[in-house]
Amino acid sequence: MSQIENACGREQGKRQDPIPAVHVISNCPLCGDVSANPLESIPFERIWSSLRTRWGAVFSPEIMQRHTPAPNISLLECQRCGLQYFNPAIPGDAEFYNQLMASSLGYSSERWDFLAAIEIIASGDKVLDIACGEGRFLQLAQAKGAVVCGIDINPMAVENAKHKGLSAYCVPLNEFASENRECFDVVTAFQVIEHLSDVQPFARAASNCLKPGGKFFITVPNRLRGYHNPFDPLDQPPHHLSRWTSDQLQTLAHLTGCNVSTIRYEPAGVHDYRALLRCRIGAEQSESLWARIIARIVFAPSLYQIYSTMGLLDRWHLLGMSVMGVFEKQR
Ligand SMILES: [Zn+2]
Repeated sequence: MSQIENACGREQGKRQDPIPAVHVISNCPLCGDVSANPLESIPFERIWSSLRTRWGAVFSPEIMQRHTPAPNISLLECQRCGLQYFNPAIPGDAEFYNQLMASSLGYSSERWDFLAAIEIIASGDKVLDIACGEGRFLQLAQAKGAVVCGIDINPMAVENAKHKGLSAYCVPLNEFASENRECFDVVTAFQVIEHLSDVQPFARAASNCLKPGGKFFITVPNRLRGYHNPFDPLDQPPHHLSRWTSDQLQTLAHLTGCNVSTIRYEPAGVHDYRALLRCRIGAEQSESLWARIIARIVFAPSLYQIYSTMGLLDRWHLLGMSVMGVFEKQR
């Protein structure tokens, strides 16, 4: 559920324009290359319909109209860097996320990417969290002894962060970066860039805030996760504008003057592992009663932890929902 929380908890209200900007993409949002292979054409009606049936998300006609720039949207794959991106890019605005949050969506209070980053942050580090929302990550970092600062363009979220005693500012990243060059030991951007129609300016501005040798933590939904729903409406616009693997994170590091320290994958969750393994053996579709019974025993939730401890999930290449790049800014 981390993606959902990111969009709704952290990203909500980020785009304040009454009409979201529609970007017709002529270059890759990551590397700028003009060559791309068309992968899929998706009717917007399918996205709205799936949001309604799957998540109970009901949108007003006005919201749907202004987030539907064309009957279909194209999914492309950059020939150079492999990023998959949608064209035209239509990001969700504040009202879209308000209505999405009024649905049956929930989110986990445990964030894998927050905890993974906290492991590496040291006491005394100056930490900037971009798109800090109400400051949940900042609180964790502060508890670790870090000196924290967050920015977000959602004024309500920033106010809530301030009420928690956190240093938070309602300011666009490019403006903040121009006044805070090389000020931070750590910069974080959790599940942000998949919502952007242009990634390079964002990533460069974020990198500018880092001291030489500083660490940049960036997480995205993992396109190569072990289990995909056949059609996930939250993996399409207006929610997500691009799809990533660790290869594109490597490209991003290079473009921002950083070296890649580590790439980490979120462990597959118990539901992912059961769904994937069932698909692999075909038990779900099997008409054999015995196949279904055996699948239920072998893939019982209670065995998940045992398999995980034995390292079998890694051996089965079961990757989770998110991937994190830990970059180090070149000195
Ligand atoms: Zn590219």
